Amino acid sequence: MKLASVGSVAFDAIETPFGKTDKIVGGAGTYISLASSFFLEKQSLISVVGGDFPKEFLEILKSKGIDISGVEIKNAEKTFFWSGRYHTDLNSRDTLITELNVLGDFQPVLPDAARNADFLMLGNLSPSVQFSVIEQMAVRPKLIAMDTMNFWMDIALDDLKQTLKKVDVLIINDEEARQLSGVYSLRKAATVIRAMGPQILIIKKGEHGALLFYEQNIFYAPALPLEEVFDPTGAGDTFAGGFIGYLASKPKLDFETMKRAIIAGSALASFCVEKFGTERLLEINHTDIYNRMQAFVSLSTFQLED
Ligand code: AMP
Repeated sequence: MKLASVGSVAFDAIETPFGKTDKIVGGAGTYISLASSFFLEKQSLISVVGGDFPKEFLEILKSKGIDISGVEIKNAEKTFFWSGRYHTDLNSRDTLITELNVLGDFQPVLPDAARNADFLMLGNLSPSVQFSVIEQMAVRPKLIAMDTMNFWMDIALDDLKQTLKKVDVLIINDEEARQLSGVYSLRKAATVIRAMGPQILIIKKGEHGALLFYEQNIFYAPALPLEEVFDPTGAGDTFAGGFIGYLASKPKLDFETMKRAIIAGSALASFCVEKFGTERLLEINHTDIYNRMQAFVSLSTFQLED
């Protein structure tokens, strides 16, 4: 198995300035595995859902080569539910409801195939749960990447630091990088955070792109200036899924491949925000993705001289 990912599979109810949804399928694990499925024929998703989760959606995941034997179905319980409302600028949102339900006591158990994965992506979950997943790996993966958020920095900083020691890549946003490091300059923040464990750091800056810190190098990927952002939910997870899926599909893990992986993640995230939930990710194909990656090249290359 090339990739194993752990993350929520959820119901979301979203309000944006453009409209409102009832409960639709979301969740970090859903976005991660859908995004990475464009680059991988086979991968494993580890999560938990309730008896109310639509079987048809699990079939969709399967049809994308996602092994869901690690998605536990607790028939007598309800799926995790999150509801959020975006502000007019779409850069910030309020969480209206979080019902943990099955996620409340989620103890992921990795199927054998996942325990042997070459790449491991830890979606945003409690750092102790992320740690327990790393501990279950039969062999140390080539690369372990993780997402986290300020909530865990507030309530579980010690656990978070323990988990950070075990991972290669940390993917967070600029505000979280500042909180975790205690410094404002992102360059200095990167030095502080990398000393905590992850040698590769990706700092996302929302509509302003993302920074990659790798060895002595820094790479900046812009975000595509889209005419309209419809629903930003899942953009971060889709970015992470595109990044890790691209890397897992390549033989080398060097700086040039990492750069392309960041662009792959950015391209997928740019699709994700065009419609509600996972809708757009379920429509696009490889050509769409390649063309959009090409648009990033055009957007950011120039010649210094004529
Ligand atoms: P993002 O927009 O990338 O921050 O991710 C949004 C997704 O994260 C939504 O689909 C939610 O279902 C999921 N989510 C929100 N809160 C949590 C949480 N506390 N634990 C796990 N997943 C969550």
